[in-house]
Amino acid sequence: VILMKSEKPCKKIVVKFGGSSIADNERLSRAVSAVVSEAKKGTRIAVVVSAMGKTTDTLLNAAKNSSNGKLEKHELDDILSMGERTSVRIFCAALRTNGVESRYFDPLDEDWPIITDASFSNANPLRDECEKRVKESVLPLVEKGTVPVIAGFVGRTLTGKITTLGRGGSDTTAFLLAEALKADEVVLVTDADGIMSGDPKVVANPSRISEIDVNTLVGLADSGAKFIHSKALKYKPQSVDVRVINSAHGDL
Ligand code: ASP
Ligand code: MG
Repeated sequence: VILMKSEKPCKKIVVKFGGSSIADNERLSRAVSAVVSEAKKGTRIAVVVSAMGKTTDTLLNAAKNSSNGKLEKHELDDILSMGERTSVRIFCAALRTNGVESRYFDPLDEDWPIITDASFSNANPLRDECEKRVKESVLPLVEKGTVPVIAGFVGRTLTGKITTLGRGGSDTTAFLLAEALKADEVVLVTDADGIMSGDPKVVANPSRISEIDVNTLVGLADSGAKFIHSKALKYKPQSVDVRVINSAHGDL
């Protein structure tokens, strides 16, 4: 008789670190250690990172101001992709040096999963292609407990050109991954305490909404609440819950 050790299925999550949550050394270290301790509990994790702090704005201004407005759209996307492409390298190296197996995904890697059309600066993911690629190249890593670190916001066309998904687009990256990985949850790490009943800059004492369904949130997003990238909500898998946490907590 062969006795198989029965294993409890591990929880699978996609964690997205927004720019503010990795904006400086202290926050970056906090983000890394949050992933390290969660991974050590046995949770299977895929990480999506944005550009650190306001990097994307810096790149955008530098590129525009230095090129007399003569930049081709695909050139600008290639430049803007560098914020996230830097983040994945730093985050992955930090995970590994803290004892967690990790691999980063760059849009020029052959097995890069996020494939889009050629609408530069606001590219649309080709969902079936993304799903197939995530299953082929990202899922096996997650299943064996290696933490893939994927550049948010960026994509690649079928002919190999780098695209971007629109400002705030790394939420879309996280949802696309969650769908194909069949994740239990998406965790969006930000510098807000959650979704508020109003913009704290406009409304006095807005309260935190503990739970909100996606259709109501679409309404808020469209009315300029600018919380979750409204275009990204279209990609939120129905069966996956999204949790928003403040990076100050230091855990997931
Ligand atoms: N870094 C990009 C931006 O600032 C994408 C993102 O943060 O989701 O818009
Ligand atoms: Mg951002």
